[in-house]
Amino acid sequence: MAATSPLYETYARAPLRFERGEGVWLITEGGERYLDFAAGVAVNVLGHSHPHLVEALKAQAEKLWHTSNLYQAPGQEKLGERLIANTFADKVFFTNSGAEALECAIKTARRYHYSKGQPDRYHIITFEGAFHGRTIATIAAGGQQKYIDGFGPKAPGFDQVPFEDLDAVKAAITDATAGILLEPVQGEGGLRTFSPEFLKEIRALCDEHGLLLIFDEVQCGVGRTGTLFAYMQMGVTPDIMAVAKGIGGGFPMGACLATADAASGMVAGTHGSTYGGNPLAMAVGNAVLDVVLLDGFLQNVKGLGLQFRQGLEGLKDRFPDVIEEIRGRGLMIGIKAKVPAADLLQALRSEHVLTVMAGDNVVRVLPPLITTADEAREGLARLEKAAEKLRAEKLR
Ligand code: PLP
Repeated sequence: MAATSPLYETYARAPLRFERGEGVWLITEGGERYLDFAAGVAVNVLGHSHPHLVEALKAQAEKLWHTSNLYQAPGQEKLGERLIANTFADKVFFTNSGAEALECAIKTARRYHYSKGQPDRYHIITFEGAFHGRTIATIAAGGQQKYIDGFGPKAPGFDQVPFEDLDAVKAAITDATAGILLEPVQGEGGLRTFSPEFLKEIRALCDEHGLLLIFDEVQCGVGRTGTLFAYMQMGVTPDIMAVAKGIGGGFPMGACLATADAASGMVAGTHGSTYGGNPLAMAVGNAVLDVVLLDGFLQNVKGLGLQFRQGLEGLKDRFPDVIEEIRGRGLMIGIKAKVPAADLLQALRSEHVLTVMAGDNVVRVLPPLITTADEAREGLARLEKAAEKLRAEKLR
């Protein structure tokens, strides 16, 4: 590692240098193997070096990399049609990242009301604990002061209310409200899941007031919770949805999905992206869907989710001094720790298991969706060892 890094110091990077990956394993330059239960923060849904993704990327690389959005886009059309066939949506805009998918979602909602003669209707209600990205608009939407401070005036038009507080939502709705934005399962915020009952109330409020319901499924989408998208378990359908991370399996891409009505304001010239929907990204996105939509794939994710849940609940019972609560759905799992979450993450790293921090003293366990039952068992055994060591340290 260089003594002084040429990189911005915006990340507290772990002292690990990975050279390659195989399935659920990451391998360092020195040859050490780590069980990757971080999956690039819920990105590598098919693990590392999945042969179908490698093949798709190579084949596309030999044909065509980039054309821009000035021409027809067969890869976008194919992936768009498949996303539409498998969701509530009628229209798709492809982006390069999650934050860009959110930007598109916010613009779509605002433009909808503008095109209906209500230009002052641009406020979006969001929830405490949200994370929607790091652009100027999405830090305002997320509402976390630590991400907002120091970047000039907070972008206007985002009204935040406490998590699952229906009265606060009702009180926040005004003539200027355009929509309500939420992550069905909050990721960075600490793996909190909105209840289906609450979401039904929110849907009803949107219908009553003519608001657009926007789901951010950047982290919880693409099979992570055991259904293609998390909303499918909630009995509630959004009007607009932001997707990224898993849809590219590690290739940078995202998408904003919308109903035809919600997207009706996004006419020619209102939005654009040089790279969005690039042929390489579309080849990989289509290849990800080839696998995730295979018969039984999502069923298997549900089974694995159950296996982790049972294993972790068992560990919680045995180590109540280390683990307070198990949260989440499917393979989007949160361990709320009794010890500092950073200590749990570190103890797991010592056992060569990679996880991710979240808010609310939670450690996220986000295994690739192709994890086998044996690998899950191996991971749980290592979790047990980490908990034992933390307990021993506490008693010392
Ligand atoms: N929304 C959610 C729920 C996320 O978890 C993230 C990233 O962690 C984003 C948006 C932003 O995505 P990106 O980092 O690709 O811009």
